Amino acid sequence: CSSSTPITATLFPGDGIGPEIAESVKKVFTTAGVPIEWEEHYVGTEIDPRTQSFLTWDSLESVRRNKVGLKGPMATPIGKGHRSLNLTLRKELNLYANVRPCYSLPGYKTRYDDVDLITIRENTEGEYSGLEHQVVRGVVESLKIITRQASLRVAEYAFLYAKTHGRERVSAIHKANIMQKTDGLFLKCCREVAEKYPEITYEEVVIDNCCMMLVKNPALFDVLVMPNLYGDIISDLCAGLVGGLGLTPSCNIGEDGVALAEAVHGSAPDIAGKNLANPTALLLSGVMMLRHLKLNEQAEQIHSAIINTIAEGKYRTADLGGSSTTTEFTKAICDHL
Ligand code: NAD
Repeated sequence: CSSSTPITATLFPGDGIGPEIAESVKKVFTTAGVPIEWEEHYVGTEIDPRTQSFLTWDSLESVRRNKVGLKGPMATPIGKGHRSLNLTLRKELNLYANVRPCYSLPGYKTRYDDVDLITIRENTEGEYSGLEHQVVRGVVESLKIITRQASLRVAEYAFLYAKTHGRERVSAIHKANIMQKTDGLFLKCCREVAEKYPEITYEEVVIDNCCMMLVKNPALFDVLVMPNLYGDIISDLCAGLVGGLGLTPSCNIGEDGVALAEAVHGSAPDIAGKNLANPTALLLSGVMMLRHLKLNEQAEQIHSAIINTIAEGKYRTADLGGSSTTTEFTKAICDHL
């Protein structure tokens, strides 16, 4: 693999624990001989007027150009006059679907042994449209936007994903009994797409019932597709089923073939700079990025090295009940490679 022409990918180490876990990814990828050259971009220290955010225009251009990247967590600075970094990325790069696989790791015991779920979250609208205002003092309004275009787009992605990954069922998660117009439109679009995939079983599950079913028996689900806010919540719930935020990867899918993989977790300020973070979520996100690039051999090698290191149990970070530092755990993965 080291003889292949290197692929340039954007890397956002991000904030908090981001640089520590990004370092781990770089080490593991180098050890595995992954033919990737990183173009590193840090969050700016001033608001870039072209993005109205601390995320610079150059960073966005880098992802647009490379069409592939890996992103560490970004802390949302509190204050007015700028957009959330993550929202800026999603909107500007049209990252319309967030794919979060969630599966039990062999050798790491949790309440369930058989979790194997994929949540696919609509990433651009819904309650996260950023349209909030005060009507009068003491009364505020937040607009939930659902469009036919974005709903069809994410539903298409979910069914195509199911088909190409040998999955059998797609469940649309909703609250259309109350949100009749918005979630109603989302469901209508899912039904339309489902008709084109008769080989995939389609079902609709109300979100509250879905939460109950997930914690009772996660094996009831396969691929779940849902509007933005539900996806945010359900995917963290799913992370909890397999051992927490340190383990769960994701990949954002954009238009024009852009893919930006990222860990589900945030910048973990409570453990930042202490060499305590679990790099698994970002590493597995990197594995998703490699699969997207069809670098399947390296993806499998790295995936196995991570799984084997955790299963062995000798080197685990504190969130998994161990006492290894980020660097010790990373070294153990490299030794497995
Ligand atoms: P968080 O995910 O950063 O932390 C929640 C808990 O999980 C903390 O106890 C933390 O120590 C732990 N944790 C998270 N990742 C871990 C890892 N890899 N290894 C070990 N432990 C880990 O959530 P938060 O504290 O609510 O958010 C902190 C900041 O991150 C906020 O500014 C928030 O806006 C931002 N955030 C960013 C993203 C993103 O960039 N996609 C996602 C969520 C939160």
